[in-house]
Amino acid sequence: MKERPVIYLDYASGTPLHGDVDAAMQPFFRERFANPRALHRDGVANKEVIEEARASIGKLLNASQDELYFTSGGTDANMRALWGVVNALQDSGRELSNMHVVVSMLEHSSVRACAEMFARRGLSVSFAPVTTEGVVDVTKLQELIQDNTVLVSVMLVNNEIGTVQPIEEIAKIIREKRKTSHGQTPLLHTDATQAPLTIRLDMKKLGADLVTLDAYKMYGPAGSGLLFVRTGVPYVGLCGVLHGRSGYEGATPNTGAIVGLEKALTLAQKRYEETALHFNALSTYLIKRIHERFSECIVNGEKTECAGGIVNVTFPGSEGEFLVAQLSEHGIAASAKSACLSGGGEGSYVIAAFDREHANNTIRFSFGYSTTREDIDVLMSVLSDIIS
Ligand code: PLP
Repeated sequence: MKERPVIYLDYASGTPLHGDVDAAMQPFFRERFANPRALHRDGVANKEVIEEARASIGKLLNASQDELYFTSGGTDANMRALWGVVNALQDSGRELSNMHVVVSMLEHSSVRACAEMFARRGLSVSFAPVTTEGVVDVTKLQELIQDNTVLVSVMLVNNEIGTVQPIEEIAKIIREKRKTSHGQTPLLHTDATQAPLTIRLDMKKLGADLVTLDAYKMYGPAGSGLLFVRTGVPYVGLCGVLHGRSGYEGATPNTGAIVGLEKALTLAQKRYEETALHFNALSTYLIKRIHERFSECIVNGEKTECAGGIVNVTFPGSEGEFLVAQLSEHGIAASAKSACLSGGGEGSYVIAAFDREHANNTIRFSFGYSTTREDIDVLMSVLSDIIS
């Protein structure tokens, strides 16, 4: 194998730490390590740091500070969203058998797993179908909502194909349903993990009741995330109670991780327009070159709005995971499906939702700040060798 620097095209799985984020976090793992729950001066100082980070994030997201819960990443925030709402409703006397949840076919495995867990306990779950472009079919989603629907979960940007979902439109539908039912439900959860690098996030404008964010997808640290829970939404923590607003329910808040999340989100949102332009130019270039070289290829979601610097391509007749392994041999990092489901030989359920035949034949390329057209040129040359 010829040595060459790795061309990393898997930023949707994880980003490196931005230098400024690293610098902001480091003191809290070294000299400023005190437990923010402690009553001594250093502990109190770290608690203040956390509260400053919370205030800054609230301002950025147009949210109030007590609507923000720090989590250990996207999976944790997603699971807490479903768990928190269903358990709060149970606590107020509602039976699981009288609850229904709608989850889109595109959702991350953490949302699906949590919904399936409740389904095994008696709650009913419907999966909202998607169009051939990988976008949730809003009319069909609307038809799925019943009188006992408590929660609808639709992500903002899909992590495998990059399609942007019509969250503001869905939020409007949900609000109308809530008005007519004169109750607290249905509620809308959106997993916005893949959005902050390229989309301006405003919680009031977005209209979702619960929103997931993940620092690791925006040049922040892995294992640090956020759940926004709109004021008034029935929500409890894992033990059925809220322990203040740390979001750690009695555990020690990770000051460094929270500082890293705040810094990463600030930087990402500051340059989201510039990043979107950069990623769109790269996507357009890659898609053009793919079509020129591989006429049989399908670019998933090509006819609809995509974001997050994600391009997903179907190579009919080639196994996605085989292509990933071959590219890796040549120093290129890409992925066949969501990182947490990689391996195992099963196809992508996201692709299967609109193209069952090719669930095993797709590969995802995702870009970062430093990705260039030259990276794409190398990718195309290696892909040509592999496929021929
Ligand atoms: N949601 C989406 C859309 C993701 O892409 C991911 C990770 O890739 C997650 C949630 C889970 O994030 P984490 O693995 O950091 O918990």
